Amino acid sequence: MEASRLAADGVPDAEKAFFVADLSAVYRQHQRWKHCLPDIEPFYAVKCNPDPYVLRLLAGLGTGFDCASNGEISQVLGIGAVDPSRIIFANPCKATSFIRGAQKAGVEMMTFDNADELYKIKRVYPGAKLVLRILTDDSKSLCRLGLKFGAPLVAVRGLLEKAKELDLDVVGVSFHVGSGCFDSNAFADAVMRARTAFDVGKEVGYAFKLLDVGGGFEDNNFERTAGVLRRAINEYFIDRRELGIRIIAEPGRFYVSKAFNLAANVIARRAPLDDGTEQDMDGMEEDQPRVMYYINDGVYGAFNCILFDHQVVHPYVLSLDGSFHVPAGSRTLKSSVWGPTCDSIDCVCANAELPATLAVGDWLGFDNMGAYTICAASRFNGFDVSKVVYTVGGGSDGREVKAVLGSFARATRGY
Ligand SMILES: *Cc1c(COP(=O)(O)O)cnc(C)c1O
Repeated sequence: MEASRLAADGVPDAEKAFFVADLSAVYRQHQRWKHCLPDIEPFYAVKCNPDPYVLRLLAGLGTGFDCASNGEISQVLGIGAVDPSRIIFANPCKATSFIRGAQKAGVEMMTFDNADELYKIKRVYPGAKLVLRILTDDSKSLCRLGLKFGAPLVAVRGLLEKAKELDLDVVGVSFHVGSGCFDSNAFADAVMRARTAFDVGKEVGYAFKLLDVGGGFEDNNFERTAGVLRRAINEYFIDRRELGIRIIAEPGRFYVSKAFNLAANVIARRAPLDDGTEQDMDGMEEDQPRVMYYINDGVYGAFNCILFDHQVVHPYVLSLDGSFHVPAGSRTLKSSVWGPTCDSIDCVCANAELPATLAVGDWLGFDNMGAYTICAASRFNGFDVSKVVYTVGGGSDGREVKAVLGSFARATRGY
C-alpha cells in the first residue's frame, strides 16, 4: 500500500518488485525437521538461498552448512560464531585452490566421487576428512544431479582401495536423491546403497562414522519422506549406535521455499481496446490469453527458477486499484504474465485467470519464492535484482526468531 501511494506520488522506484521473507517460516521448518528427524543433523545447503538473515537464524539455531565453493565457505564463516567443523564442503569436484582454501579456513569435511579428486586432495590437503558421494536413483526429482555427480556402486571398491593406498581418511558416505524429490521411496533405496558402500569400506579397512543423506526434501511430502528415511535407517543401519555413526543431511529447498513471497508491480498491459476493436490480435486462437501483463521481475531475475529449477508459478492479485480487497465474483480473463526484459523467453506465466479490471499499477503476488530464485538472478537488460523485506510475523515463533537472532548478534559482536 505504501509502495502504491509513493508510486502514485511519483517517488522514483517506489513500484519496484520486492520479496517478503518471513523468518518465522524458516524457524517453523526447523522445528518440523527436529520433530520428524531428531537423529539427523541438518547442514543447510547455502546455494539454495544464501540470504544473510536466513544464514544467521540457522547458525543461531545450531544447524551446520553445506557449502560448494570458497565463496560460500567465506560467507558462512563471515557471519561469525560458526565453527568450521559445522561446514561440509559438499562439492565432489573442486578446484585445487578451493581445496587449499578449505584447509586454510579449517573446513575438514569434503566429498569426492572420483580418483582424480583423491590425487588432488592427497597433494594439497592429505588430512581432510573425506566423504564418498555415491550415485543413487534420481529419476523422481525435479533436478537430477546424478547426471553430474556420484560414484556408481560398482566403482566404490576401486575408489576406496585407491584412497586407502593414498593413506587418505575417508570417514563416510553421502548421496543426493536429486533436488525436489517427489518420491519418498528414493531415500530408502539410497540408504540401502549407502549401506553397501559402508560394508565395502569395512572390507577395505575403513570404519565409517558418517552417513550424509543429502538434500532433496520437499515441503509438501516432508512427513512422508521423513518416515521412509527413519524406517530405512532403522533397517539398514540398525547398528548405528554401536558403530557410533553420525547422520547428517543437506536440506536446502525445504527450509526456505515457503518463507519468501514476491510482490511484483504491473508496469504495462496489452489488451483489446475498450471499444471492442482488437489491438493487433489477428490470428490468435480463441482460447489464447487476450490480455498480456508485464511485471517488473522476470525469468532473468527471481523467476529464473522457471528455467533452471523447473518451477511453475501461480500469480495472484495482491492489490487492485489501491486495495487489498478483490471483489468476490469479479469477471476474469485469460491472461499471460511477462517479465520486464526485451526477450520473449521472459514469460512468467503463459496462462492465468486474472480479473478483467487488473491494470497498470496493481500488484501481483507469488508464493514459494525462497528456493533457487534470488541467488541465481541476473541484472540482464539493466533490471535490478529485487530486494528483500523481512518480517518475523506476530506470534510466539516471531518472538523466538528475534531471541535467536538477538543472541546470535551478541555472540558475534565485532564481526
Ligand atoms: C543442491 C544441493 C543440496 C540441496 O538440495 P535441495 O534439493 O535444495 O534440498 C544438497 N546437497 C548438495 C550436494 C547439493 O548439490
